[in-house]
Amino acid sequence: EIRVRFAPSPTGGLHLGGVRTALYNFLFARKHQGKFILRIEDTDQTRFVPGAEEYIIRCLEWCGLKPDEGPHIGGPFGPYRQSERKNVYAQYAHQLVEQGHAYYAFDTPEELEALRRQQPNFQYDATTRGQLKNSLTLSAKEVQHYLHEGRPYVIRIRMPENKTIRIHDLIRGEVEFDTNQVDDKVLLKADGMPTYHLAVVVDDYLMQISHVFRGEEWLPSTPVHVLLWEYLFGKAHMPEWAHLPLILRPDGHGKLSKRDGDRLGFPVYAMDWTDPFTGETTRGFREMGFLPEAFVNMLALLGWNDGSGQEIFTLDELVTRFSIERIHKSGARFDFEKAKWFNHEWIKRLPVKHYLEEVKIFFKQQHIPLSDDEKLMRVLELIKERCTLLGDFIEQGKFFFVAPETYDLSVIQKKWSPGMQAAFEEWEKALEQVEPWEAENIEHALIAAAEKQELKKNDMLLPLRIMLVGGKFGPPVFQIAELLGKVETRQRIRKALV
Ligand code: GLU
Repeated sequence: EIRVRFAPSPTGGLHLGGVRTALYNFLFARKHQGKFILRIEDTDQTRFVPGAEEYIIRCLEWCGLKPDEGPHIGGPFGPYRQSERKNVYAQYAHQLVEQGHAYYAFDTPEELEALRRQQPNFQYDATTRGQLKNSLTLSAKEVQHYLHEGRPYVIRIRMPENKTIRIHDLIRGEVEFDTNQVDDKVLLKADGMPTYHLAVVVDDYLMQISHVFRGEEWLPSTPVHVLLWEYLFGKAHMPEWAHLPLILRPDGHGKLSKRDGDRLGFPVYAMDWTDPFTGETTRGFREMGFLPEAFVNMLALLGWNDGSGQEIFTLDELVTRFSIERIHKSGARFDFEKAKWFNHEWIKRLPVKHYLEEVKIFFKQQHIPLSDDEKLMRVLELIKERCTLLGDFIEQGKFFFVAPETYDLSVIQKKWSPGMQAAFEEWEKALEQVEPWEAENIEHALIAAAEKQELKKNDMLLPLRIMLVGGKFGPPVFQIAELLGKVETRQRIRKALV
C-alpha cells in the first residue's frame, strides 16, 4: 500500500515550499489510491510554537489537501503527534547501543561549546570521539557508574568509517554519501526525547510509510536515516526517497526565504501567520487575495510539469497527471508575477459564487456596505476579467455600492462641448421612461438625446463614465448603469451635473 506523510515541525508560518511538499505527497497518494498522513514533528520542545499545529491544519484545509490520518482526525497508526509518542523512541536508541551502533555520550553542553570555540570545525565523529567522554572511551564500570549517578547523557549514532552509502532517489537518481563526512548525530537527547533523526525513522517504520517526499535540504541527513533503517528495521522495509528541488528566489540566487518575500513585497506563507510571542503578523497568500485553486496550481508547477505545455490544472487533474518522473532536479525559481497570472486565470474561470464569501470579507474590511448576494454576484461577474487578486474587486467594484465623492473633472472638461449639458439633462429625464432597465435601452435613450443636440454618443461616453464611477475605469458603461439601477443612475448624473 502507498502511504506517504507530510511531517512539518510546528515552528511558525507554513512556507510555500512546505505546502508544495504536502501537495506532492497528496497528489502521489491520491494517484495511487494510497494514504496521505499528517504527522506533527514536535520533539524539539525548544522550538515549539503554540498555535502552529492548528495553523498548519487550516492551511492544508484551505488548499484542499485533506489528510487521511492525522492528529486532528486520528487513524490506525496514531498518535500522530511525536510529543505524544515519546515513550516509543528510547527503546530503539538503547537497542542501537546494545548493537554497538550507538553509544552514550556524557560530554556536557559547556564542554562541547568550549571545544567548538577552540576548533571552529569541530565535529563529534570518528576522528574526535576517541578523546571525548562517552561509552566508547570510558570503561563499562565507569559508564554504569555515570548512569547510576543520574548524569545527563545523550545517545549518538556511531557513524562507520570509510563507507559509501548509496541511495536511489526517485528524483535525483543515484546519490552517494561518504560516511566520514557525517558526524555522530545525537539520536536521544538528555531530556529523553528523540531527535528528528531517530523519530523520523521510527515513525516512518511504525506508520508503514512507503515513500518519503521531502525538501532537498534533508538530503544530507539521509545517510543517517539509511543506517538507522538498516540497523533497526532492515533496509527491505525502507521507504523510497524523493527529495524535492528547492524553491529559489526570483533572481535564481539561493533558497527563497521569508526575508526575500518581505524585501520584495510578496508573501511566502500560505496564510497570515501571527507570531504568538511578538504578536507580529506575516502576510499569507490567502489574505493577499489568492484563490486556493490558483495557489495549489502554481505550486504544482514549481518543480513539475506534465510535458504538454498546459499550465492550468484543477486539483483533480493534477492527481491524474502527476508523476515523479517529471519532477525537476534543479531548483524552481519563484515568480510572483506568474503566481498572480495563475490567480487571474482562476478568478476568470471559476463561477463567482465560488469565491463570493471570500470577496465579501475584503469588502467588509473596507467597511463597504453590500447589497444582496444576487446583485453582488452580477457585479463580480461583470468585473472579474479585470481582477488579479481578490482585493482588486474592491477597486473595480466599490462604486457599485458607494457613489463617487470626487470626479476626475479634467477628463469631463476636455470632452465638454456646447450642448453636452443639455444632452445629459435631457437624457436623465428620458431615463424615467426606460423600461425594462437594460443596458441596450439605456444606450438608445442616450443616442436619442445626443442626436437632438447634434452630438455623437461616443463623445458622451467618457464624461458619463466619470459621472457614474468617478474615474476612467470599469466595465462597459451602460452595463454599469444597468447594474446601478434607474434611481441610482439618475441620482449620480444629477449630482455630477450641478
Ligand atoms: N520535520 C521535518 C520538517 O519540518 C520533516 C522532514 C522529513 O519529511 O523527513 O520539515
